[in-house]
Amino acid sequence: MNRKVSNRFGSHTMRLAQFVMAAAASSLLAGCASNQAASLARPQDPAGKVAALGFAGEARGADAFPLYQSFRPVSHSALNGRTIAVARISDIALRPKEVVLTFDDGPMPGKTSKILETLDDYGVGATFLMVGEMAHYHPDLVREVAQHGHTIGTHTYRHANLRTMSPDAAMAEIRKGQASVAEALAPIGRRPAPFFRFPYLADTQSLRKRLASEGITTIDVDIDSKDYFRSSAESVRSRALDAVEKHGRGIILMHDIQTRTAAMLPQFLADLKSRGYTVVRLSPADRSAPLVASAE
Ligand SMILES: [Zn+2]
Repeated sequence: MNRKVSNRFGSHTMRLAQFVMAAAASSLLAGCASNQAASLARPQDPAGKVAALGFAGEARGADAFPLYQSFRPVSHSALNGRTIAVARISDIALRPKEVVLTFDDGPMPGKTSKILETLDDYGVGATFLMVGEMAHYHPDLVREVAQHGHTIGTHTYRHANLRTMSPDAAMAEIRKGQASVAEALAPIGRRPAPFFRFPYLADTQSLRKRLASEGITTIDVDIDSKDYFRSSAESVRSRALDAVEKHGRGIILMHDIQTRTAAMLPQFLADLKSRGYTVVRLSPADRSAPLVASAE
């Protein structure tokens, strides 16, 4: 299977960029308006706060929060597949008719919770690649996702296009996103998994290598639901299902900031189930590894 699928999306990178940012803007602006004072008052370096909590420091990082996630028992849904322990990209070796559900850009009030309900109904686990700023404004939702047993990775702090940034600035943006999600999970003793997805799927080989060298696995995309296009829930469902059938297996990209995605998910999962697919969970292989690399 082609793991370099992100390169295939280069042509619609700008459309994706415009759409995702437009979709996220209303929520982010609403959050900014109501949290402006708090935002101005908070430290400019969330990593500093996280260090104080014991995430970033080498001494306490692993011991203070030993669990990334702990999956609660799930029903014996025919759709519920195996769990893969992931230390590197090559570990995500899917068999025919195995899919991974991923949701980017959240968490978002009113939408993420609906998606969690549907996933519960089918007893399946997903991976949420969260934007740090969204986690900052909605930490309760971050914890809700974790408490439903799903895997949480990150997606930068501000949904930045990392190709436009220097490598050091890009890494700082990635770490800021990790730190924000880690801060939201700290009260329940959890940490995000060291899983990362490039916003707009705009990766670079050097950043991919650097992330890998730090134990952070890039989560690529095989099947794009294209739920960021303005279309009906039914269109998203049928398009995503067609793409799944075409590929036969793979990592599916969806967004939990989209109403149409939350609306189509019940029938989409029913379709996958009736066609004999199983949903595979991704779990971090090394749960004791430090989340945020020490300062260079
Ligand atoms: Zn995104």
